[in-house]
Amino acid sequence: MDSPLIINIQRYSIHDGDGIRSTVFFKGCPLSCRWCHNPESQRFSPEVLFHAERCTGCGACTNACTHGALENRLSCTGCGACADVCLSGARERVGEPMSVPALCALLARDLPFYEESGGGVTLSGGEAAAQDMNYLEALCRHLVRAGIRVNLDTCGYVEPQRLLTLLPYTDVFLFDVKLIDSARHREWTGVGNERILENLILLTSRGAKIDVRIPVIGGANADEENIRQTAAFLRREVPGIRRVYLLPYHAAGSGKYAQLGRRYEGEAFFRPDNAALEAMRVVFAEEGISGVRIGA
Ligand code: SF4
Ligand code: SF4
Repeated sequence: MDSPLIINIQRYSIHDGDGIRSTVFFKGCPLSCRWCHNPESQRFSPEVLFHAERCTGCGACTNACTHGALENRLSCTGCGACADVCLSGARERVGEPMSVPALCALLARDLPFYEESGGGVTLSGGEAAAQDMNYLEALCRHLVRAGIRVNLDTCGYVEPQRLLTLLPYTDVFLFDVKLIDSARHREWTGVGNERILENLILLTSRGAKIDVRIPVIGGANADEENIRQTAAFLRREVPGIRRVYLLPYHAAGSGKYAQLGRRYEGEAFFRPDNAALEAMRVVFAEEGISGVRIGA
């Protein structure tokens, strides 16, 4: 069993499902959405963030790197040796493996909060369902046996069998739907959406509890055509979904691209204003889906 890399475990989250939750962010995703606010979660391999403002120029990292990657970032292996010697914290390793027992022990610390609030653990990323399946199944089994409810936050772009394997352990799927037109989906995320929509229909047909989450990105998918197509698709194909959320764009993670040595391509994206978001809710209602929530 391969331990996936974890970039963060966020305790006391109230945005990833019901109640108080701990959210585990796995590293690696099959999509590369141009608005991604966690770019360090996209690659499956370890990486190092560079916080230039903390650097004292001591040169320890250059001496520690045996790959010449401080001169040529393309040769970086993500080994983390530079971060180990950086006393100022300017180089930060992202992506650490953690065994199932260690992760479960950590997550179980907050069991009283989960029980009190109706919360639990949310597996997120990156893409949780794209990680090692033996690991995921063992993790979910442990959590469920411990009385912890598990949510799976997914982009849906995985082999259907992965979702079906995780279905018996999953309380609620937080299922992202970004664009209904597949060509547009490919343009903004790198892949077409056929598999995603098929998986959504499949999970619904198997009785899964599903919250659909739609990142609303001005300049990419917030136009009325896409919103109406999405609402119509959901009403027609997946009538059993529990809730629909509109998640307005924010640029909080844009600075991380430079820290990873990448270019942020989302300068033109914007958060639709409140009137526009309300108008989207009206479109959903016109298409027969009421109670759409704005924000997680
Ligand atoms: S070790 Fe850290 S502080 Fe020193 S030069 Fe490298 S990044 Fe800067
Ligand atoms: S992680 Fe740091 S030490 Fe390792 S190859 Fe990359 S730059 Fe060099």
